[in-house]
Amino acid sequence: MAYSYEAPVSQSLFDRASVVTPGGVNSPVRAFRAVGGTPRFMVSGTGPYLTDADGREYVDLVCSWGPMILGHSHPEVIAAVQEAVSRGTSFGTPGEGEVALAEEIVARIEPVEQVRLVSSGTEATMSAIRLARGFTGRAKVVKFAGCYHGHVDALLAAAGSGVATFGLPDTPGVTGATAGDTVVLPYNDLDAVRAAFAAHPGEIACVITEASPGNMGVVPPADGFNAGLKELCAANGALYISDEVMTGFRTSKAGWYGVDGVRPDLMTFGKVMGGGFPAAAFGGRGDVMAHLAPAGPVYQAGTLSGNPVATAAGLAQLRLLDDAAYARIDAVSAELRSLVGDALTKEGVAHTVSAASNMFSVFFTDRPVRNYDDAKKQDVFRFTAFFHSMLEQGVYLPPSAFESWFVSTAHDERAIERIAAALPAAARAASEATA
Ligand code: PLP
Repeated sequence: MAYSYEAPVSQSLFDRASVVTPGGVNSPVRAFRAVGGTPRFMVSGTGPYLTDADGREYVDLVCSWGPMILGHSHPEVIAAVQEAVSRGTSFGTPGEGEVALAEEIVARIEPVEQVRLVSSGTEATMSAIRLARGFTGRAKVVKFAGCYHGHVDALLAAAGSGVATFGLPDTPGVTGATAGDTVVLPYNDLDAVRAAFAAHPGEIACVITEASPGNMGVVPPADGFNAGLKELCAANGALYISDEVMTGFRTSKAGWYGVDGVRPDLMTFGKVMGGGFPAAAFGGRGDVMAHLAPAGPVYQAGTLSGNPVATAAGLAQLRLLDDAAYARIDAVSAELRSLVGDALTKEGVAHTVSAASNMFSVFFTDRPVRNYDDAKKQDVFRFTAFFHSMLEQGVYLPPSAFESWFVSTAHDERAIERIAAALPAAARAASEATA
């Protein structure tokens, strides 16, 4: 499909990038392959806005895929980073910033008795399942179709996010031996989990789930699903790992745990806790975490783990995320959800606005979406038309129908008005789109 607007500077950067980097990007969904057109190369961000290399401004509903919960270039976060960077960028020794960040996480999230800092969500989930295997002495990992836990070999089977966007069944490069210990089940289906425990007695080390999935679009857990997982794990000697890389410090002060109160054995975090820098973490029960080196035998390490600049950014961001901040984000999300829903209804477009706290996405179907199979049945071509119309009008949505939209405390009335003004034409484009 051809689009009526152009982005010549982004296009020339993309052409250069494509020579030296596979597909021209350093993370697949950024390439716009699912929606077509030229990926925008951004040069700056302020509050709820991003500016691209062609000088065009967008209201940002991606927020760097979650981290920028205070908007871009928040002055207090920038000041903390400048202060930290003026003292040096990495020491390879312990430092006070990482202690303070760990204390902040432990104080906010009651089931986390101890926490280890890493640099990406992928590292966090990879380390958490290694620890679960080391702790239980078991090999198998249960995950759910459509849940994405980073590009950990064992967790890429039937994954969400880019894997869902591109409809990849699985990925070459993951060996049968690695994937063979992964049991993939349909989301929101406790009977399937029960059956898996019955089929593999004494073999399942852990069940890992997104606390509330956002990588097949937003598909919240059905009532009692997470509690049921916890119970089944406890009854079968397996660990319950809640992946809060996306929901952590976003869906409430204590993430999704603050919403459903189901106590995991281990949890993973990333995105918001790094304030836009590479910082992530895993943590949980003290007796399990005690198995990690150097306290215990399960090895895990990182040259840049607990980096002083990243921890300063994360700590500054978390300290600004008080009750008022969450109230603001929830209100922005609710307003946008109703604006989007109204615009699509007005044009007669079948849709479901699906929300989990302030995370939300739009499925272009009016059938209920409870799992990945349901999510795949939407009219993706309508999303594509909707996306491009919004982009053309200066609203930057995730370039995929299988991703959460993110808002920030910086999304003020002016930003919301700009989104509202773009919606009628985008809804019309969705209604007129053909497969
Ligand atoms: N877990 C979840 C739930 C995620 O959404 C993501 C990334 O989107 C990850 C893990 C991986 O995090 P990262 O991209 O920092 O490696």
